[in-house]
Amino acid sequence: MATPSRVLESQAETGSPAACYGGRLGAGVWTQYGAALSDPIGRVHRAGAETCDTWNGYMDGAIRTGYRAAAEVLAQLNS
Ligand SMILES: Cc1cc2nc3c(=O)[nH]c(=O)nc-3n(C[C@H](O)[C@H](O)[C@H](O)COP(=O)(O)OP(=O)(O)OC[C@H]3O[C@@H](n4cnc5c(N)ncnc54)[C@H](O)[C@@H]3O)c2cc1C
Repeated sequence: MATPSRVLESQAETGSPAACYGGRLGAGVWTQYGAALSDPIGRVHRAGAETCDTWNGYMDGAIRTGYRAAAEVLAQLNS
């Protein structure tokens, strides 16, 4: 289980004037904790570019996770 030491709610909190276009994970973070970012928690289903195992942080990833989360919700509703 990941135990973040700090959570930033916005780019402004980083104190960096340089914008970035996606949340970048450090080496090994996705392979160790990816499921913690993307797996459903009860009835909460998560989508978004940073929850995707393919094209993480990009539009393609965001769209893929929208389809994935919708499929998860439908499966749960039908179970
Ligand atoms: C400058 C820039 C350039 C980029 N260029 C590219 C590119 O060339 N190619 C590419 O593939 N990707 C690019 N990206 C990345 C791409 O934009 C993102 O990966 C994609 O938009 C992520 O989609 P998302 O749905 O995960 O999140 P977002 O697009 O961030 O959508 C999240 C939405 O949730 C809303 N929200 C947040 N909190 C709440 C709340 N509490 N209640 C309700 N709504 C809330 C936000 O307002 C937002 O509308 C770029 C990003 C930036 C910033």
